[in-house]
Amino acid sequence: MLIGVPKEIKTREYRVGMTPAGVRAFVGRGHKVLVQQGAGEGSGIKDEVYVRAGATMVPTAADAWSAEMVVKVKEPLAAEYGFFRKDLIVYTYLHLAAEPELTRKLAETGVAGVAYETIELADGSLPLLRPMSEVAGRMSAQVGAACLQKEHGGKGILLGGVPGTRRGRVVILGGGVVGKNAATIAVGMGAQVTVLDVRGQTMEYLEDVFGGAIETLYSNADNIEACVQRADLVIGAVLVTGAKAPKLVTEKLISEMEKGSVVVDVAVDQGGCIETCRPTTHDNPTYEVHGVVHYCVANMPGAVSHTSTWALTNTTLQYGLAIADKGVAAAARADRAVLLGVNTFGGAVTYGPVAQAHNLEYVPVERALG
Ligand code: NAD
Repeated sequence: MLIGVPKEIKTREYRVGMTPAGVRAFVGRGHKVLVQQGAGEGSGIKDEVYVRAGATMVPTAADAWSAEMVVKVKEPLAAEYGFFRKDLIVYTYLHLAAEPELTRKLAETGVAGVAYETIELADGSLPLLRPMSEVAGRMSAQVGAACLQKEHGGKGILLGGVPGTRRGRVVILGGGVVGKNAATIAVGMGAQVTVLDVRGQTMEYLEDVFGGAIETLYSNADNIEACVQRADLVIGAVLVTGAKAPKLVTEKLISEMEKGSVVVDVAVDQGGCIETCRPTTHDNPTYEVHGVVHYCVANMPGAVSHTSTWALTNTTLQYGLAIADKGVAAAARADRAVLLGVNTFGGAVTYGPVAQAHNLEYVPVERALG
């Protein structure tokens, strides 16, 4: 199959859909890969490295989009809709529930849209969202530590302290992928870490992994209040699948924190679990409420594009190869995870929640595939 890798055009998106290792894997299976010149720049990948891996560099986006399957990172933007056509496969993050226009365009033109975020394993986990949660979780402790510095509005606490001083107190709300990775870095920095969750199994797992290095607590209003009031850094990392994040920290509780404390609400993309949270960008990532520094960037992984590109493509590759080898329909029939990733096919919207979000007709994917 002919595979295209265009340069991402979304503002401040520096990731790329395929690394040279990916190119090598596709080419090794007999596929041909067209990479748009400069596509890897933002992730530190030079054109000549792609060429050494077996790619053919092409000068324009139109060239890359002329392929049978386009592999990307972000959802196509309006400037790219003109490339849509019947029999084109687009394999990328689509987030169609929030994109009525894109959904219609994909369906109207007959594009097979395979969304990273809805590829789902039998246990309900989302393997192509996981790497970005790992990145955001690790980053949250790192940016939180920086925000605690005086010049960033923080109270001037070093998370690990030094001998003879108190260590920083980090409270993590939610001990899933983001929470565990935040704890890994915070513990590594020498902080005193408490993780609150509602699942006994999650807390048991965290205690097994971290031993006595962290404390776990059941997440209820009493425990949240007691922990947050005396925290230096609070990290919001809860997720209730398919729903908005529960507001676990009220504005009143924020006002009771010491001035110069920091909150990093990673769950901001689901509305945030801290009442005073509103989405910010990498250009202007923080603001203050009641003297507490808030960091609420909705696309944290974008700031570490190098790591994020590799983390993402490590996991997108296997499904991408299966689709290239067999075509969407056969790959979807062979693997239910891929089947669940198919959001549009043959002119139909094939993912229930997306059709529902935009009042469009829903055609079950099995029927659309024929
Ligand atoms: P996850 O499902 O792995 O973990 C969520 C955890 O929250 C679970 O352990 C769950 O038991 C816990 N939880 C649910 N209700 C709770 C409550 N009331 N109190 C305490 N814990 C509770 O999800 P994840 O992958 O860790 O993602 C967490 C959030 O981070 C999601 O909203 C995700 O979209 C977001 N995220 C944001 C960015 C970003 O750049 N801002 C990047 C990646 C992920």
